[in-house]
Amino acid sequence: MDQPIQPIVDALSRPLKDLRISVTDRCNFRCTYCMPKEIFGSNYSFLPHEKILTFEEIERLVRIFSQLGVEKIRITGGEPLLRKDLEELIHKIALVDTIRDIALTTNASMLTLQRAQRLREAGLKRLTVSLDSLQDNIFGSMNGVRFPVQRVLQGIQAAKEAGFTSVKVNMVVQKGKNDNAIIEMAEYFRGTGHVLRLIEYMDVGTTNGWSLQDVVSANEILLKISSRWPLEPIPARSPNDVAKRYRYLDGEGEIGLITSVTNPFCHGCSRARLSSDGKVYTCLFAADGLDIKTPMREGASDKEIKEILCSLWQHRRDRYSEIRTDATVALPKVEMSRIGG
Ligand code: SAM
Ligand code: SF4
Ligand code: SF4
Repeated sequence: MDQPIQPIVDALSRPLKDLRISVTDRCNFRCTYCMPKEIFGSNYSFLPHEKILTFEEIERLVRIFSQLGVEKIRITGGEPLLRKDLEELIHKIALVDTIRDIALTTNASMLTLQRAQRLREAGLKRLTVSLDSLQDNIFGSMNGVRFPVQRVLQGIQAAKEAGFTSVKVNMVVQKGKNDNAIIEMAEYFRGTGHVLRLIEYMDVGTTNGWSLQDVVSANEILLKISSRWPLEPIPARSPNDVAKRYRYLDGEGEIGLITSVTNPFCHGCSRARLSSDGKVYTCLFAADGLDIKTPMREGASDKEIKEILCSLWQHRRDRYSEIRTDATVALPKVEMSRIGG
């Protein structure tokens, strides 16, 4: 039986509800906005095996986090499906009493029907697939390795056949790169049960050369889509949901807008992030995280680990997106591939 829950809030009264777990810092893509190949080349040193948390260590941390109020887990990376036997981890997490949702974000390059079925059987509830365009020339240059669109679409189809009837499709919109692909993407996913989520390009990490001029605002995106197919806002599913939801008036489904740059949602941010090397980050834009792996490997008890996490959260004041300026863009920040999106 799991320990009783003792929900905690941070210094800005935000509860701890979600945990994003990056299971690897490696990826088989080199998306220009995340892991540009000029930096993440053959000389880049990824984490060695022994520095990466084992599934047992992650499971233990999930149990402890769940005692502090975490109910939702998202598995991410790097590319999480690169981690062999990921299903085992999902199965372990699914057995934690108080975890009511387990989701996975993937580039779908390795999402076969068999893998999707195994993930579902293990207890995965929801899948998000990233896809930035339906055109091979655009997608290929954005993913940095010329990965074909068709293979990602096959992954989404495999997910559907395995029972993930409503896949979320993440599209990072970058001015001059794929903003012309918005209508085509919306058209393709309308009426399929899948939900296209359009994400404002963010200044994560320090390697993607972000500039505000490359951001297409959610308002522009909304205008583009709604002038073709009228939309109306619909309520968030939960108070800490980051996507603003809109539904097509003709009944062909919904879209989501992630307005992290133009309309930040730090006030409701209830997420902690666990990196693959065992650091806990309280913000996507943090410079560093708290090393929880070392005390864990040195024999700290669950109670001691819980106290460390509790104190970290209770002191949290992060609200980077609300205070973003030209000056903050240059601050040191952890890479997204290390802590997940
Ligand atoms: N490799 C997996 C994938 O791409 O789905 C999971 C990890 S990836 C870091 C998680 C999400 O972050 C993806 O949907 C990706 O598009 C998004 N992302 C990465 N860099 C971003 C950026 N600079 N701005 C906005 N979203 C970004
Ligand atoms: Fe890899 Fe995902 Fe980053 Fe693209 S966004 S480089 S697929 S981790
Ligand atoms: Fe949460 Fe940090 Fe993003 Fe604000 S900037 S929503 S605090 S992760």
